[in-house]
Amino acid sequence: MLLKKGMQNQKVRLMQERLTELGYKPGPADGIFGPKTENAVLAFQDQKGLAVDGVAGSETWKALFDQPPTPTVAKLDAPPAYKQCFDMFGDFRVAGWREQNLVRCDLSDLKEGLGHLYLGWLSGEDKAFDHKTWFGFVCHRLAAPHFQAVFRLIVKRGLARQLKTYDGCYNVRYMRGAGQWSTHSWAISIDLDAPWNRFGQENFAMSQEVARCFEENGFVWGGRWNRPDAMHFQYCTLR
Ligand SMILES: [Zn+2]
Repeated sequence: MLLKKGMQNQKVRLMQERLTELGYKPGPADGIFGPKTENAVLAFQDQKGLAVDGVAGSETWKALFDQPPTPTVAKLDAPPAYKQCFDMFGDFRVAGWREQNLVRCDLSDLKEGLGHLYLGWLSGEDKAFDHKTWFGFVCHRLAAPHFQAVFRLIVKRGLARQLKTYDGCYNVRYMRGAGQWSTHSWAISIDLDAPWNRFGQENFAMSQEVARCFEENGFVWGGRWNRPDAMHFQYCTLR
């Protein structure tokens, strides 16, 4: 991987974010590798004793993100605050984070009840994982027991058929219309029935009973927000 002036992509944005965190001034995190970003890379390389060429290759990337990627917590009994997410769930931008933190939220024992969601479960990020041998989705290891408890409750209460589609969990991105990381970046959030519960949709169709199953298990439901995101459930509080 090589990032240099003139490039424009998601990795550039990650790098700009990180440079800003570390006190360098790459300009706004817009994903565009311009002169300001180049200057910040040069300064960083100089500081770290790397080859000072303004091009971010694997050595520079490693120096930027090299830190212990694993949070020490083994289990969470309650959802942390949003501002604690990096501490609790780790830094998803660090090499090795995925391997150490993403696990299968295996719901094979609930397949009979939830099997109708199956096609949806094969979409997006989860394609990277083999779904021929198990049923479920990929999420953060600390959130997995909580997701499992919710789906067990949904099936137990006979609500499974009120859900139609699974629309994603792990997805590194910014929140819509906000300059902060979406909780999907840590794989602690899930979207369900997205076509009927669009972001900002006031008359959403999410089942209140399903939402209650999530809330009883500590999840925060986007359906309660001023600008509703009724498809969305996350295992962390708002601030
Ligand atoms: Zn969401």
